Amino acid sequence: MNRFDYKRRRSTEARVGIVGIGGDNPIRLQSMTNTSTTDIEGSARQIERIAEAGADLVRLTTQGVKEARALSEIKKALAPHLAELPLVADVHFNPQAAYEALKTCEKVRINPGNFADPAHQFKTIGYTDSEYEAELSKLKAKLVPFLDKAKTFGTALRLGVNHGSLSDRIVSRYGDTPQGMVESLMEYLRICKAEGFHNVVLSIKASNVIIMVETVKLLVETMEKEGMAYPLHLGVTEAGNDDEGRIKSAVGIGTLLAMGIGDTIRVSLSEAPEREIPVARLLRDYITAREGHPELNVPANVARSIEESGINPADAIIKISYEDTDRETVMIKAAADFGTLLLNGYGKDIELDAPALSEAERRDIEDGIMQAVRRRFTKPDYIACPSCGRTLFNLEETLARVKAATSHLKGVKIAVMGCIVNGPGEMADADFGYVGAGPGKITLYKGKEIVRKNIPEHEAVDALLELIKENP
Ligand code: SF4
Repeated sequence: MNRFDYKRRRSTEARVGIVGIGGDNPIRLQSMTNTSTTDIEGSARQIERIAEAGADLVRLTTQGVKEARALSEIKKALAPHLAELPLVADVHFNPQAAYEALKTCEKVRINPGNFADPAHQFKTIGYTDSEYEAELSKLKAKLVPFLDKAKTFGTALRLGVNHGSLSDRIVSRYGDTPQGMVESLMEYLRICKAEGFHNVVLSIKASNVIIMVETVKLLVETMEKEGMAYPLHLGVTEAGNDDEGRIKSAVGIGTLLAMGIGDTIRVSLSEAPEREIPVARLLRDYITAREGHPELNVPANVARSIEESGINPADAIIKISYEDTDRETVMIKAAADFGTLLLNGYGKDIELDAPALSEAERRDIEDGIMQAVRRRFTKPDYIACPSCGRTLFNLEETLARVKAATSHLKGVKIAVMGCIVNGPGEMADADFGYVGAGPGKITLYKGKEIVRKNIPEHEAVDALLELIKENP
């Protein structure tokens, strides 16, 4: 695999209704609604806006059987020209909801961290080899009937692992590590392969872009060793919003796309979901345009000139120039290019040359990229979920208030997560967490520890600030 010239990794194809993912298909764009599926009209209109923005498929959270059943009503409520738009049900913890969704959706996402294993309690369990094998047999007994049903309905499957939602079984044996994440997925994938179920797309996501990139690379290597080439869905979870969310996503997704990895992408932003699509499209089109045109490949040229100069690549300041006049376009392209180089060991610092941007705009983008790759911290690090049907407060508005109150706290990692079901696990290594605990109720965390429970929402941002001040 060449790290710099765009050449797409060959993968098998998954059929998601009328849309193929992987194989010779273009890289597909997707987003996810943040409505409850029980709000039929609200969900249908949001899907239409996402499709209008250019998504090839749309995902919805279906936390229970009731939410999964509502999908057929949503399909009926869509504008006639979207009758065949593939819908994807996102299921955690509830296999019955996944079974229900198979009947209506073109694809169902399950999380190997919580489909067969119980929700994690952060417990270390000491398994002997034979006890571990017995757990794998239980997993197989739960997964095989589900695969059989998916075959009957012709529904595709996404196996989606997230850093932070691994089962206690996996963490006890492999640690909360890239190897643990890959193994969590491979256990399921080996069963799919053995059962002849190949309509599968895979994802491994993390909010830390370094972990996300390394883990996806490890997954690709592991699959290659085992003779598998299933298509990959890329994304950086909890990337946040505004510039920060765009930069983290462009660094993580852009680095992997530049290496030829990725068959469908989702840029997760804590904003209206349709706003994710233009970012994803720019990223995809920018990188895939390099195919067959190595002279257009900015990172390749920079990397080659570093190599030809004979200097130590890790000591170079990397300078890349952009003629674009739009600030967001420069930011996304620069994050993808500098990210590819920095995450592959080139350069110590970066210099963005973009004549159309002001000095302050250029500096901001450079700082954002250096922080996304964890080389230099100049502001707080926000980890924020994109919101979904489980979200218990207005995430975009709350994130803006938290940012306004904490913008001076350089290097502090603050998580804003919409629900207590997935939030605490997925806020990764945040120093402090603001998590929706119930309607109008917020629970605050210091690291993984709950420090204040069920605070009324209108007091919660001040309480978070107090907590941070008490724990400098
Ligand atoms: Fe939805 Fe956010 Fe909860 Fe994830 S953490 S399930 S995106 S509300």
